[in-house]
Amino acid sequence: MRTAALPMPFANADAAEYWRSAEKEELALQKCKGCGAARFPARHLCPVCWSDQAEWSRASGRGTIYAATVVRRAPSPEYKDMVPYVLALIDLEEGPRMITNLVGDGALNWRIGDAVRVTFERRVDGVMPQFELVGNG
Ligand SMILES: [Zn+2]
Repeated sequence: MRTAALPMPFANADAAEYWRSAEKEELALQKCKGCGAARFPARHLCPVCWSDQAEWSRASGRGTIYAATVVRRAPSPEYKDMVPYVLALIDLEEGPRMITNLVGDGALNWRIGDAVRVTFERRVDGVMPQFELVGNG
């Protein structure tokens, strides 16, 4: 597992299982019991059918790059040793689009459509799912 001295995002109650799964190096998604849609980020109501019934399922961790950008100026002091780094929108195999960092070898050479897989990063107060390249589109 990678490590980084970065803060974690604020976690609300809807996303508690997402973060518990990340601690076990698993990517979890809510799945609507009404229409079956996977959703991210976690939320109380399904954005497709408005059902409040959902269950958690383990995601494959595979996806493709929808879009990405290279961040060259640190947004806060904690990120100054990280730049340049890649902020990406990943289309997960299960459907949801996730904003994340692209990390690891070759991350700066991303291309739209590249295949990615989840990896996990130990931070100051939790574990953050991130993605890395597995091939070139
Ligand atoms: Zn639904």
